[in-house]
Amino acid sequence: MNNEPAKSENPNVTASNFIRVIIDEDLKNNKSNGRVATRFPPEPNGYLHIGHAKSICLNFGLARDYKGVCHLRFDDTNPSKEDVEYVDSIQEDVRWLGFDWGKNLFYASDYFENLFDFAVQLIKLGKAYVCDLNAEQMREYRGTLTAPGKDSPNRNRSVDENLDLFNRMRAGEFADGSRTLRAKIDMASGNINMRDPVIYRIMRASHHRTGDTWCIYPMYDFTHCLSDAIEGITHSICTLEFEDHRPLYDWVLDVLKTPCHPQQIEFARLNLNYTVMSKRRLLELVTNKYVSGWDDPRMPTVCGLRRRGFTPESIRDFCDRIGVAKRDSMVDVALLEHCLREDLNKRSPRVMGVLHPLKVIIDNYPEDSSEELDAINNPEDLSAGSRRLPFCRELFIEQDDFREAPPKKYYRLFPGNEVRLRYAYYITCQSFVKDAAGAVVELHCTYDPATRGGSAPDNRQVKSTIHWVSARHAVTAEVRLYDNLFTSEIPGGASAEADWKADLNPDSLHVLSDCRLEPGLISAAPGSRFQFERVGYFCADLDSQPGKPVFNRTVTLRDTWAKIEQKQKNI
Ligand code: ATP
Ligand code: MG
Repeated sequence: MNNEPAKSENPNVTASNFIRVIIDEDLKNNKSNGRVATRFPPEPNGYLHIGHAKSICLNFGLARDYKGVCHLRFDDTNPSKEDVEYVDSIQEDVRWLGFDWGKNLFYASDYFENLFDFAVQLIKLGKAYVCDLNAEQMREYRGTLTAPGKDSPNRNRSVDENLDLFNRMRAGEFADGSRTLRAKIDMASGNINMRDPVIYRIMRASHHRTGDTWCIYPMYDFTHCLSDAIEGITHSICTLEFEDHRPLYDWVLDVLKTPCHPQQIEFARLNLNYTVMSKRRLLELVTNKYVSGWDDPRMPTVCGLRRRGFTPESIRDFCDRIGVAKRDSMVDVALLEHCLREDLNKRSPRVMGVLHPLKVIIDNYPEDSSEELDAINNPEDLSAGSRRLPFCRELFIEQDDFREAPPKKYYRLFPGNEVRLRYAYYITCQSFVKDAAGAVVELHCTYDPATRGGSAPDNRQVKSTIHWVSARHAVTAEVRLYDNLFTSEIPGGASAEADWKADLNPDSLHVLSDCRLEPGLISAAPGSRFQFERVGYFCADLDSQPGKPVFNRTVTLRDTWAKIEQKQKNI
């Protein structure tokens, strides 16, 4: 197979970007003693999606190229939504994408004790207080983008009282939501995140790692910067919506004078058309059974893409090509599919499979006879060798490859026309049989024994080569065809929150239950990928049973992105 490193594997050709420029500068100035440490910090409240893959490729890619480290850290501070199922799937997906965190697997929950101590320090510094406002009052006091907030009536509690109350919060003396610990910053700040943000809340929820040890949990903004500092992260890369949180990130670390103060850098998240990517929406698709699960091959999740037949190489290549920017944009799913086709074209064995079978009888082929013909496994990779295909009197071809009355420029089978059967013989259509409803159900053809292997000794040419399988030897399979999950580029439109599900594509899945494939596919291992010649790329599904394979269509052969690129070049 192809042993060339993918583009993203080679640091010399990884395109530079503004983050690399920052890191180069930091290294030049010997900031952090020349170390580069990044992290990927998922919250285990859902499965990873292609947007996360961008962040993974970026963070692990930087660590690889700068000979640094990238930590995998679970940002598990909200037990009400988190689960070990997600923890496990995230690790599996990061590994499958081709990245390795080595020993650097961390959980924010491992720092709960440290974080509590940091909070106590803040209180002692007069920089945090226990607040008795409830959620609604808190909203009222917070102010708006244009109006400053109001000080909490508890803002000037003494350090001793705060310490006492905070300890009692931890001890479980107060009801959920009745008190919070807040950073004491500035209720008049132009940045709402700086208006005395909550850093601890009371929540009686069992945590998947710490059980019932805690009934108070630290908030994201407090946890994240300190976890980064504890781990010695140098560059804390996150998506743009955290830009307004950066002053708080820096405030916490400055006030607490942590020895390590990582630099937060924001980049634009990946948006992909014809799909949704928020975990809340993906969860809704799963729980309300719009899809079969997180790994439904129509989902933009890493496990969905894997089940669909995507390769990790193609996803890494995609992430490389979209690059890293400061401004949000929409990426065309056709680019993702283009990267996939490029990779599959190099590596997929070719096979023959008929999705909509039409019986062909070769009238002049002996009834009890059969033979084997040589077929090349991959013209793009001759080291993949060849295989033998059985041929006999009865075959299946694609219904589409026959027309009773051919339109102009139709060169496939029609009465009187000769075509090549791939790797086999020239055949000529003599007649056809229709059923009562008028559908063509059987073709009668003759073959030319002198054209064995697919070429004529007299050099006579045919204009079309079609695929086929031997009816007697073929395996019957289920094939699932997929289309975009949504009919619109931005489901529900840019702002409308309510109606995104109205844009679900009712035709995103077609199941064909009577496909006929060449016999070798009977034992295709789930996950193995093939090109069905002339039809598309397919991947054996987990639902395959002994003797009854199930295939997912990964992607068709038609590359709309290549066409778009071509057009752009021609303009
Ligand atoms: P959601 O908003 O869907 O809940 P999230 O950003 O909260 O997703 P996290 O588990 O917190 O999900 O994400 C882990 C990391 O992945 C974060 O650093 C986040 O910035 C990054 N990330 C999430 N979505 C995208 C995306 N679409 N493009 C690039 N990076 C992303
Ligand atoms: Mg998040």
